[in-house]
Amino acid sequence: MVSFKELGLVNTREMFAKAIKGGYAIPAFNFNNMEQLQAIIKASAETKSPVILQVSKGARNYANQTLLRYMAQGAVEYAKELGWEHPQICLHLDHGDSFELCKSCVDFGFSSVMIDASSLPYEENIALTKKVVDYAHQFDVTVEAELGVLAGVEDEVASEVSHYTKPEEVVDFATRTGCDSLAISIGTSHGAYKFTPEQCTRDPKTGRLVPPPLAFDVLDAVMEQLPGFPIVLHGSSSVPQEYVDMINKYGGKLPDAVGIPEEQLRKAAKSAVCKINIDSDSRLAFTAAVRKVLAEKPGEFDPRKYCGPARDLMTELYKHKIINVLGSDGKAE
Ligand SMILES: [Zn+2]
Repeated sequence: MVSFKELGLVNTREMFAKAIKGGYAIPAFNFNNMEQLQAIIKASAETKSPVILQVSKGARNYANQTLLRYMAQGAVEYAKELGWEHPQICLHLDHGDSFELCKSCVDFGFSSVMIDASSLPYEENIALTKKVVDYAHQFDVTVEAELGVLAGVEDEVASEVSHYTKPEEVVDFATRTGCDSLAISIGTSHGAYKFTPEQCTRDPKTGRLVPPPLAFDVLDAVMEQLPGFPIVLHGSSSVPQEYVDMINKYGGKLPDAVGIPEEQLRKAAKSAVCKINIDSDSRLAFTAAVRKVLAEKPGEFDPRKYCGPARDLMTELYKHKIINVLGSDGKAE
């Protein structure tokens, strides 16, 4: 048993309370490799933004959970080395799908876990979430739960259709489970293809897809039911057109990739939404940078020569999200 506190990590309780009061949101960035983690920490340290490092099921399969956990521990020290005196870094399990997995992360030094039982019937979702909460809270580890179903594909989490969260359920759910935050479904979606062309309209000038707006009425109704309760948005990448264009220009093929407009996320960040998950955007930045180098310098075979630029582009992306979308810069001096 290792406590996250020994590792210099923090849970989400204070982070979220401050974010709701201050009208901003905490970035939750997924990481799978060293370059991505370096970019996240560099961006957070340079902007003094609290940050949530997320480990998904896919990341655990790809990079090994033990290695990722020690990397997060190293990230705290790296942040200090970069001159961030009191780093506020949370290590979070993304989409935990069983009590056993959540327990193993709590025991291993994670400061926050998500139990995603949203695909189960309502009462089973409550029972499993409560079981995880009861265990995690003994060690001051915070728990995110989910109500409603997001569309899209994220590692092994996939659903074809979305079901908006029912505002009439949230009080009962939060009260009976004791969860610390709630992921809701209001039209965000996992992956780089958040909407089909049929769901969108097309901008006549650029020919690009314009996605349907998020269901802010559902968010408002949830906030009315649970005033001041931390709300989480998954699947909130914006799929920046510049990265998609770069990928397509240098041999890639991502037709009609579309995400959530940043304007809508900015609006959400000012509300009780205090955690916004962004993963696909950094995948796109990484891929765009690597493709560019390899296309322009076919003789290059040193991974540092293409992973380095990828890291730089991701750092730029994370800083942009922190400063221009979430507003979390300067909140962890
Ligand atoms: Zn998610």
